[in-house]
Amino acid sequence: MWKKKDFEEQRELMVKNQIVARGISDPLVIEAMRKVPRHMFVEDSMVYESYGDHPLPIGKGQTISQPFMVASMTEELELKGGDRVLEIGTGSGYQAAILAEIVLEVYTIERVKSLAERAERLLHSLGYNNVNVIVDDGSLGLSEYSPYDAIIVTAASPNIPPPLFEQLKEGGRLIIPVSDIYAQTLIKVIKKKGNQVKQRLYGCVFVPLIGDYGYK
Ligand code: SAM
Repeated sequence: MWKKKDFEEQRELMVKNQIVARGISDPLVIEAMRKVPRHMFVEDSMVYESYGDHPLPIGKGQTISQPFMVASMTEELELKGGDRVLEIGTGSGYQAAILAEIVLEVYTIERVKSLAERAERLLHSLGYNNVNVIVDDGSLGLSEYSPYDAIIVTAASPNIPPPLFEQLKEGGRLIIPVSDIYAQTLIKVIKKKGNQVKQRLYGCVFVPLIGDYGYK
């Protein structure tokens, strides 16, 4: 049976070999990846694989993303300490915890109630009191607390949901996997003078975004 120290060692190796060695350089992201106990966000049967270089199942047909994907998407958000961020697809809550280590306030939406409840309990037990978990269709965003400095979508969408772009601040960043029939591409959108400035980052694989502006 592994002790806390063993998990810490595994986490250090993950940061060194999977994150820093692959070019992630934002110190805020590296420090967050170093701190958040990823093994607590996976099912009991998966704890010994939790620092592996791959996604893992979290129940209800959903996944916790590969550590590098979490780090890379977070870096692309270009976060600062005072930012307010919206995440679509809470899942295990791991990405929300990484965000919460860096920014002032995190709003995270999950459509599967049991996943949202489990993530909320865990996040609050770990002291992430700046994370607000909401059960809803995240493809509609969360207009009450908008505009956001950054929005991250951790499920694959057929296009860029218009409400998400509307709820972004001027200069704000949106990261979203957008899929066509053959593949998904991670897209970064920056709001400049009200317009979408788009950059295609790289290919990726995510579970689908199910909702009004996602898949039906
Ligand atoms: N960020 C998560 C983590 O750190 O564990 C991983 C997210 S998992 C790849 C995608 C999640 O998006 C699933 O939990 C799924 O239920 C959720 N999802 C799919 N469509 C959604 C929607 N319209 N609104 C909110 N959540 C949605």
